[in-house]
Amino acid sequence: MSQHHEVIVLGAGVSGIYQIKRLVDLGLDAIVLEADEDLGGTWYRNRYPGCRFDSESYTYGYSFSRELLDEWHWKERFSSQPENLRYLRFVVDKFDLRRHMRFEARVEAMLWDEDEHVWHLRVANGDTYTARFVVSGVGVLSTPTLPHYEGMDDFEGDAFHTYWWPKEPVPLEGRRVGVMGTGATGIQVIAEIADQVEELFVFQRRPNWSTPLNNSPISEEEMVDIRSRYDEIFADCASTHAGFLHLPESRRFWDVTPEERKAHWDALYATPGFAIMAANFPEIFYDEAANREMSEYIAGRIRERVKDPATAEKLIPKDHGFATQRLPLETHYYEAYNRDNVHLVDLSETPVERFTRKGIRTTEREYELDLCVLATGFDAITGAWDRMDVRGAGGLTLREKWGDGPSTYFGLMTHGFPNLLMVAGPQSVSGSTNFPRAIEGGVDWVTRFLEHVVKSGSTRFEARAEAEKEWGEEVVRVQEQMLMRRSRGWFTGYNANVEGHGEGTIRYLAYWGGAPRYTERVTREADEGYPGVEFA
Ligand code: NAP
Repeated sequence: MSQHHEVIVLGAGVSGIYQIKRLVDLGLDAIVLEADEDLGGTWYRNRYPGCRFDSESYTYGYSFSRELLDEWHWKERFSSQPENLRYLRFVVDKFDLRRHMRFEARVEAMLWDEDEHVWHLRVANGDTYTARFVVSGVGVLSTPTLPHYEGMDDFEGDAFHTYWWPKEPVPLEGRRVGVMGTGATGIQVIAEIADQVEELFVFQRRPNWSTPLNNSPISEEEMVDIRSRYDEIFADCASTHAGFLHLPESRRFWDVTPEERKAHWDALYATPGFAIMAANFPEIFYDEAANREMSEYIAGRIRERVKDPATAEKLIPKDHGFATQRLPLETHYYEAYNRDNVHLVDLSETPVERFTRKGIRTTEREYELDLCVLATGFDAITGAWDRMDVRGAGGLTLREKWGDGPSTYFGLMTHGFPNLLMVAGPQSVSGSTNFPRAIEGGVDWVTRFLEHVVKSGSTRFEARAEAEKEWGEEVVRVQEQMLMRRSRGWFTGYNANVEGHGEGTIRYLAYWGGAPRYTERVTREADEGYPGVEFA
């Protein structure tokens, strides 16, 4: 089958859903191609126990429709995956968007046609499409990565990456379960299943800093109040660096006493969500001494919560400071280690030798398992692009262009790849701020841009190389000021399970200058008639 559309959107996740809504409203002939068999993206795939928002639910939902805001009741401050998927389906049904979506349509290749000014897309099932414009919503954490241990195929129990957690219920009771990985995902799974399984073995390579989510239900009355304040809530998110409601601390770190700092941290530790980062003293992100003091404070909290001092020490990161990698938020995570059935296997002391038929063998012993949960992370931000064969002007492949790290114009387009727009692309604020807030901004920008292109009658646009270079320099300049520049997490593109992304990797994947500055820059670009873009 072969079809032509004016615009093709890649992905029916949070980005693609809003993007198709805006394109349909513009009256453009547009469809969404989605690899999965249904919509939802992240919230369709990640069905593992404990999966939930760590953004406040009412800052995560779409802001574009008053009616939608009035109709939806968020039941918890940090809503869980099943509810989040229900929300996205509700949105799609409400605006009748499903008829613009094609499922089980994984795009494998995209080839730019310089004569016709169209993209040729090839889908895994053999279907082909052409489109004048392609808008990508492929997600930033949508390419899961597995470890490469010997014998992984020999294991006879159940084993899957958290991203591929089955739709059918997975029995936990009475089973010996291993969880490999202690990032945001592993931490959610471990805390959720600790009291459900017979034995839980946590295979930890490096610990992460983690702080309480402080979740709670949202009553009908509270929801009425939230609805009455939505304008204010979204305006506040737009005004803060990280796109959350938490306002940064205005006092300077070194101007207050250690006792005053501790009092502030005590309050933040009890505050829901990312307050402990977003409302902290900004110095903790770039001043080593300030970060050390903060890290020591959190280490103290871990020591208070974990009864066995030796286990507590293993759970305290020694190789990186607080908030220099993505901060996982937890609910009773540390208390899980006080249970008799939960065992921490420190892989830095006893590395994995191999998987066996029965489980995992470390240098110390074999752990027999019925289920092995691989919470081993993602090929972040560029992974979804790397698995497609994208060929732009002159046959240049995107894999080649981004081989040493991505280079983009505001994360919205990339030189050499005409008529291709990215919502939440590399070097935007999507990976560095409250994700859906960044997405809505990205979709609004892309929609305004496409309206401009269509009205002007242009059939080709491309980011200018000089403009892209300038943006790249700004991205690097900001990241280099922060302590996280040395982190070995996905923020800097580190993933030893992906060839070329291991030790020594530093990639500039996101813009860390904050949501307001980013919005100001991209809005100025639009207001000035897109000087960084060439039209034909
Ligand atoms: P991650 O943060 O990259 O963590 C992967 C974990 O797997 C790390 O602990 C890593 O250890 C370990 N690992 C990787 N390869 C291994 C190997 N070969 N042997 C042993 N351990 C190995 O991935 P994630 O936890 O899936 O989280 C990714 C991102 O998804 C988060 O940062 C967040 O942005 C998002 N997320 C959000 C939520 C939410 O609440 N909304 C929940 C989950 C995830 P090392 O540290 O030693 O590499």
